[in-house]
Amino acid sequence: MSVARAVEALRAGGLVILPTETVYGLGCDATNPKAVARVYEAKGRPKLNPLIAHVLGLAEAETHGVLHPKARALAQAFWPGPLTLIAERRPESSVAELACAGLSTIALRAPAHPLARELLAAFGKPITAPSANRSGHISATTAQHAAEDLGAAVDVVLDGGAAPLGLESTIVAIAPDGSGVLLRPGAIPREAIEEIVGPLAAPHGAKISAPGMLESHYAPRARLLLNAATPPEGATYLAFGAPAPRGGLTLSASGDLVEAAANLYAHLRALDASGAATIAVAPIPSHGLGEAINDRLRRAAAPR
Ligand code: AMP
Ligand code: MG
Repeated sequence: MSVARAVEALRAGGLVILPTETVYGLGCDATNPKAVARVYEAKGRPKLNPLIAHVLGLAEAETHGVLHPKARALAQAFWPGPLTLIAERRPESSVAELACAGLSTIALRAPAHPLARELLAAFGKPITAPSANRSGHISATTAQHAAEDLGAAVDVVLDGGAAPLGLESTIVAIAPDGSGVLLRPGAIPREAIEEIVGPLAAPHGAKISAPGMLESHYAPRARLLLNAATPPEGATYLAFGAPAPRGGLTLSASGDLVEAAANLYAHLRALDASGAATIAVAPIPSHGLGEAINDRLRRAAAPR
């Protein structure tokens, strides 16, 4: 469907499935609290989870949040792109307080996907867009997956093809004192961010927490077995660094972490849909994008 139709739906307080370079988003007018409430309802999301406000760039972001010079440096380095910055919310920000779950902070990101940018430009206001999946489910990396999960509640589906990165944005909070916290590992590796702002602390004990850090999250129906160097008897195998065995899939036959990130959710969905009772996953290295991939796999495997 067209961007014009999507803008119409947003103006009317409706919901739009939109592609981003990370995963598909369930977008609404960030300044319309009723629309934001509809997003929570459609996702079945615990009410207190704040949402990311999507903007075109740094200048727009600074009308909503107070960005520390280090946060600004990160925006300059990685926007448009898969980095979400948590900053103090400006009281005059037009973003609905409900989207920030009543926190004094706001999550801001300028996406790179051309269709998302076209929509933002045509709409002219920030769009809140959590991942387009029911709360706790696997994130959607195609318009079809998103529509399957949320279809009935949505007014317009914008199909931009498979999400190129396939993994959520990296969430970094820079506090007013300049200290940085990695709230969620994601599509930009920690190392690339630390090169610019120095070491990032772990979220534990941090004042700001990201509910995307709930223990069980991104969960398939099948039981998930991690770090299986070889496929155990009776399990369906998700390989890495090797071709897929019979009935299984490989995240990347060549051991490429970027390719693995892009395939992660679609492969988990596909194996889940194949009826597998247990999905065994090969060990994934922990450097670069491996940190985020392992984080998602741990949450997907966590007891519910
Ligand atoms: P999703 O859009 O589904 O990837 O989820 C958005 C993520 O951003 C969640 O993990 C939220 O908890 C996190 N988030 C949004 N706003 C804030 C905020 N003000 N402080 C901390 N985390 C936030
Ligand atoms: Mg999500």
